[in-house]
Amino acid sequence: MKKIDYRERALKLFPWVCGSCGRDFTGKNLRELTVHHKDHNHNNNPPDGSNWELLCLYCHDNEHSRLLDAEWLPTENPDKEKETTTTHSPFADLKNMLNRPRNDEGGDEPK
Ligand SMILES: [Zn+2]
Ligand SMILES: [Zn+2]
Repeated sequence: MKKIDYRERALKLFPWVCGSCGRDFTGKNLRELTVHHKDHNHNNNPPDGSNWELLCLYCHDNEHSRLLDAEWLPTENPDKEKETTTTHSPFADLKNMLNRPRNDEGGDEPK
């Protein structure tokens, strides 16, 4: 599968600033800066970047809130996201057990 590298190219072409809210980015939070396609066609990637706009995640979300197209595909997912969306964690039951009040130590046997 060919990796889409338009994001890297856009980051080389443009200053690391959100085109909407003006937030600026450094290497640390750069993954929150995404490439928006002005015509909403992610197959349209002219090398001069004329179809690209750098937007932060929040502004990009706003930009697409009405249009449910699948144009923006994050190329870097923070590992954190995986953890929070995992529903079949082996520790889920353990956590429930720990949260349960400790009144079930076989105390319902008659004395
Ligand atoms: Zn922004
Ligand atoms: Zn977009």
